[in-house]
Amino acid sequence: MLFSELPLDHRLLKSIQIQNLETATDIQASAIPHALLGKDILASSKTGSGKTLAYLVPAVQRIYKEKALSKKDPRALIVAPTRELAKQVLVELKKLLPPQAGKPVLLIGGENFNDQVKLLKRYPDFVIGTPGRVADHIEDKSLYLEGLEMLILDEADRILDLGFSSQLTIIDQAANHRKRQTLLFSATFDNADLAQISELMLKAPHRITLDDQH
Ligand code: ADP
Ligand code: MG
Repeated sequence: MLFSELPLDHRLLKSIQIQNLETATDIQASAIPHALLGKDILASSKTGSGKTLAYLVPAVQRIYKEKALSKKDPRALIVAPTRELAKQVLVELKKLLPPQAGKPVLLIGGENFNDQVKLLKRYPDFVIGTPGRVADHIEDKSLYLEGLEMLILDEADRILDLGFSSQLTIIDQAANHRKRQTLLFSATFDNADLAQISELMLKAPHRITLDDQH
């Protein structure tokens, strides 16, 4: 499937094509059409299969096509297991956003908490963070997620392997559970807590399993 065959805003399509990306990978072709319809997604595919764009493309399409639920709260929150991964996702997201879009905010440990609080007061549309620091900002009341439209968990298996299930529960409860769309991506479904977390966080998800780990 070509990106140009997907029902994407032409400006988003252009920012994909500028990166010399033409053909969607299997996970992108499987996930993006369902995500664009607003469905929850529970997907596993191996490392290197292109999961980042599988969730960033539908998240960015939202800013072109849907009116925001809230003027202040972030529209999409992406939770990643490690600081490094969160930074990489930020780099990829910036390549898809139009220049006039507000700057996404990165909430990761090891950086000044109050600086992050100041950035959140600019009401970003996109927040990317690690589970511990995101949960800290929720508990500090510096991050409000009542108007969140999309919650994305990247490398959910690693998030759980690292012991962040209680932070995920805090995020789930704060993050507009009833109305939001949730996308969960994982390399495997091996982690024993994953079934429980996905049961808790997702609603009638579209399941995609693309592993060739035989
Ligand atoms: P995963 O998260 O599944 O491990 P990534 O999203 O990090 O995979 O993507 C792996 C690599 O594939 C990255 O270098 C990315 O730029 C590249 N990539 C992603 N989608 C495409 C595509 N549709 N066509 C070509 N390369 C792609
Ligand atoms: Mg990845």
